[in-house]
Amino acid sequence: MRPEGADQPPTGIFIINPISGQLSVTKPLDRELIARFHLRAHAVDINGNQVENPIDIVINVIDMNDNRPEFLHQVWNGSVPEGSKPGTYVMTVTAIDADDPNALNGMLRYRILSQAPSTPSPNMFTINNETGDIITVAAGLDREKVQQYTLIIQATDMEGNPTYGLSNTATAVITVTDVNDNPPEFTAMTFYGEVPENRVDVIVANLTVTDKDQPHTPAWNAAY
Ligand code: CA
Repeated sequence: MRPEGADQPPTGIFIINPISGQLSVTKPLDRELIARFHLRAHAVDINGNQVENPIDIVINVIDMNDNRPEFLHQVWNGSVPEGSKPGTYVMTVTAIDADDPNALNGMLRYRILSQAPSTPSPNMFTINNETGDIITVAAGLDREKVQQYTLIIQATDMEGNPTYGLSNTATAVITVTDVNDNPPEFTAMTFYGEVPENRVDVIVANLTVTDKDQPHTPAWNAAY
């Protein structure tokens, strides 16, 4: 027999009983290392003379679900502007599985396990279970109320089968970014100042304003 798996590297994985012709495997195989072996068998007589043409033997290693999905990152950072409409794209998360991607063992599905905080709705986001795209599904993103959401996301092989699939989790941190949705407001409705007569260039009063938008951004600086 030849080449690989018999007298070619990796050698000795397959042996054939010279009398019965029974082909056996001598050690565990790993499809993720070698998915297919090509062997060639010769039938010889007792003196070692070839009595038939050699035959090719192809051995496909059947995939087992021996690899868990692995997220490419443990923490994924994304952002979305406050006030975004439902259906707004936020970010994409990705996991890989070393098992056969064309078999159930390597077919992944995503889902969101939890969202914190759960306001204004416990389901502000959804995830495309095949692509890992996270989008908004509810209105009410308000940076002045919630600046950041933390989602626990899960990838499961076997097409997400909760009984037979292997799973792993990661964290998606979504920052709600500021938009200029708050007008500046004067801190008081009336400002009082006193000016001595016959003077100029004196400070009458400091007019101060507040703005609920994120400090030190263009949305926050007020021009008088
Ligand atoms: Ca797998």
